[in-house]
Amino acid sequence: MSSFLTLNHVSFSYHSPQGEVPAMTDVCLSIEKGEFISIVGPSGCGKSTLLSLICGLLQPEEGEILIDGLPPGDSPVRVGYMLQRDHLFEWRNIFSNVCLGLEIQKKTDSEHTAGAAQLLKTYGLEDFSKARPSELSGGMRQRAALIRTMALHPDLLLLDEPFSALDYQTRLEVCDDIATIIRNAEKTAVLVTHDLSEAISFGDRVIVLSSRPARVKADITVSFAEGMTPLGRRNSNSFYQYFNQIWEELKRDE
Ligand code: ADP
Ligand code: MG
Repeated sequence: MSSFLTLNHVSFSYHSPQGEVPAMTDVCLSIEKGEFISIVGPSGCGKSTLLSLICGLLQPEEGEILIDGLPPGDSPVRVGYMLQRDHLFEWRNIFSNVCLGLEIQKKTDSEHTAGAAQLLKTYGLEDFSKARPSELSGGMRQRAALIRTMALHPDLLLLDEPFSALDYQTRLEVCDDIATIIRNAEKTAVLVTHDLSEAISFGDRVIVLSSRPARVKADITVSFAEGMTPLGRRNSNSFYQYFNQIWEELKRDE
């Protein structure tokens, strides 16, 4: 049986008047339903490009991408995208921000908006429904951004360095919070990050990319006790073993 998400020998270059910028060469990946994948690589190596290819914003120049057996544009699998900045609009309150994706997709019927309200309740932001984004902490804003994505019931979540704009301590807490929410909702998730510790704390597998043009240097399964959250993982002994092992992979051939 084929995987939930497959990249077969994917290559991609940007073309500009200044010339060609190869961003990715011969990337192969398979991701199963329910898996959490961390993709780690140096800044500028092609991580965001990879997510844009997976969600169909960009097309591979060579190779193919299949989600449940179909190219991204044809697949009925819903893909949610979460970015480094929360992109909450200050002129809308939190509830109205959370409903933005539903508005864009013309799903503002009572069933969908009630679903969004329920998500705010489940994830502890109900009391902030009428608040403006500036009244929330960085962590709460990022959680609101996740709820906006979850309101569209994505099957596959793409997370593009979603914690990197936060200060260090908040970043650890928000990563723990968001990973727990996504795990409990039984989504499939792909997180890209340049932070190796974050990658190990989040994923079931850590994929190491080379510097640009990105290629897969290593694909390492990390296993921790069932149900252990990112903060728990960071405190476990095997965390440092994985860190040292993957650090060596990151440095190799660079
Ligand atoms: P990352 O997310 O890993 O930091 P990106 O995927 O954003 O890297 O970019 C990979 C490479 O492609 C970078 O060197 C970047 O400068 C280049 N790049 C990104 N977008 C464009 C574009 N629209 N045109 C030309 N080059 C681009
Ligand atoms: Mg990026």
